[in-house]
Amino acid sequence: MTDQDHPARRLLLVHAHPDDESINNGATMAKYAAEGARVTLVTCTLGEEGEVIPPALAHLAADRDDTLGAHRIAELAAAMKELGVTDHRFLGGPGRFRDSGMMGTPQNHREGAFWAAPVDEAAAYLVEVVRSVRPQVLVTYDPDGGYGHPDHIQAHRVAMRAADLAADPDFRPDLGAPHTIAKIYWNRVPRTYAEEGFARLRATAVGFSATAAVDDVPGVVDDARITTEIDGAPYAGAKTAAMRAHATQIVVEGGFFALSNHLGQPVLVTESYELVRGERAAGGRETDLFAGVAP
Ligand SMILES: [Zn+2]
Repeated sequence: MTDQDHPARRLLLVHAHPDDESINNGATMAKYAAEGARVTLVTCTLGEEGEVIPPALAHLAADRDDTLGAHRIAELAAAMKELGVTDHRFLGGPGRFRDSGMMGTPQNHREGAFWAAPVDEAAAYLVEVVRSVRPQVLVTYDPDGGYGHPDHIQAHRVAMRAADLAADPDFRPDLGAPHTIAKIYWNRVPRTYAEEGFARLRATAVGFSATAAVDDVPGVVDDARITTEIDGAPYAGAKTAAMRAHATQIVVEGGFFALSNHLGQPVLVTESYELVRGERAAGGRETDLFAGVAP
C-alpha cells in the first residue's frame, strides 16, 4: 500500500448484513468520508435470508430464487455512493459467509452460515484487513449483537477477536505487520433519544400501519452508558438516501422508516456509541470517534 492509502484518520466498521451500516452509522460514515478520513466497511454476509419488501422483487427471496445476496451487493454499493464511502468489502469476499437467518432456524447451521463458522477462521480474514488499513478506530456491535441476531452476535465476536489477533505478532505474520486499534466502540442508542424519536413518530401522520417499540431498536441502553455521540444533522440526507438504497429491506418516509415488519421507527440522526477499549477523551460525551487519537 502507498501512503495515499493511509489518510491520517482511519475508521473501520464491521457489520453483519448490507443495510446495518446505513441504519446504525450512516451519518458517521458520511461525516468522516466527507472530512477525508478513510472509512472502511466490512460486511460479513450478503443478507441472503432477508425478507423482501417490494412485491415485484419477492422472487429474489431465499425460499424462491435465492438471488437476494447478489441484489443486495448492488444495494450496498448504491448506499455507499450516497455516503461517499469507497472502501467497502465483504468478509472473505462476497458470499464467503452466508446469512444465518433468525436465531433458532435451520439456516443457523447450514453449510457456509456465518453463525456456524469458527470465530478464529472468520477473524483471520478481518485481521488481514486491519493490518492493511491500520484503523485507529473500530465500530461494531455489543456481545448481544444489539438484538440477538446470530450474524450480529458473530460479527461482534469476529470483530473483537480480530482486533486482538491483529495486534499479536505471533498470529499469522503472513497477513501483515501487527496493528493495535486504539479505540473500539459498540453501537448504542440512548433510551431517552429513542423515546423522543418514537414520540415524534406517534405525533406525525406517517403511513406505517403500526410503530415498533423502543426495545425493538438494537443497542438501546440507559443514557449513562453513552460515551460518544456524533451529530449527524449535516448528513441526515445522506443517511436516509443510503437507507433508501437498501430498497428490498427498508422503506423510508420522511424522518422515519420501517423494515419488513412494517413497524415504523425514527431515523436516528445523532449516532451514539459506547467506548469499550481505549482512552476516553476528557470532559462529557466525546463528539469525535478519533478524540485523543494521535495522528
Ligand atoms: Zn443485520
